[in-house]
Amino acid sequence: ERINIAIDGPAGAGKSTVARLAAQALQYIYVDTGAMYRAVTLRALEQGMSNEDEERVAALANELDIELLPGSDSQRVLVDGEDVSTRLRSLDVNRNVSHFARIEAVRHRMADLQRRMAKQKGVVMDGRDIGTHVLPDAELKVFLTASSIERAKRRFLELGPDPGISLEQLEKEIAERDRLDQEREIAPLLCAPDARVLDSTGKSADEVAGQIVTWALAIART
Ligand code: C5P
Repeated sequence: ERINIAIDGPAGAGKSTVARLAAQALQYIYVDTGAMYRAVTLRALEQGMSNEDEERVAALANELDIELLPGSDSQRVLVDGEDVSTRLRSLDVNRNVSHFARIEAVRHRMADLQRRMAKQKGVVMDGRDIGTHVLPDAELKVFLTASSIERAKRRFLELGPDPGISLEQLEKEIAERDRLDQEREIAPLLCAPDARVLDSTGKSADEVAGQIVTWALAIART
């Protein structure tokens, strides 16, 4: 029997890599909810909106067509048919996404899309509020953490050969994003009371994904 798996945690804890590997092993669908908030943010910035233009941003979020396509080593994201996968990871989007993700109408729309994707079961969904808010009935909930320096290093590597920021500065920006995510009013970053806490510091992605798959198979069997 198929189950739903929620993976939440702070930025850079390794959620997306681990979620993708676990989904591959289980032949489940991987849903990266951060990419959806990033897509709204990218388009809003391109159209010159600030996070204070709540009504315009809400209208944008409601009409955007966001498609998540499974890729071999990373997921591709199409927004209104255009592949924006690489641009979603830019420093500009990193710095703004938590401000746009606070907007109630944006969260409402994203959560609605996410619940629809999980209806048939068999999804591994990563984010900040999946176990607490989007899929409170998920059969397996994991809260993934790692030390702040390890998380910064992972995001630093993601920025490629010309990162445009120092590791120290990036660590600060990640801490700021986590603070905004934890302190927002609607669906903040929070460990669900029934989540299993997993610390990925010093562990390989395969090791962490393996643990999640083991848990999932045990739950699916009962
Ligand atoms: O996971 P990722 O770092 O790509 O997420 C980017 C941002 O999107 C987060 O910092 C957070 O502000 C927002 N987000 C959210 N809820 C989710 C997933 C992401 O608010 N479920």
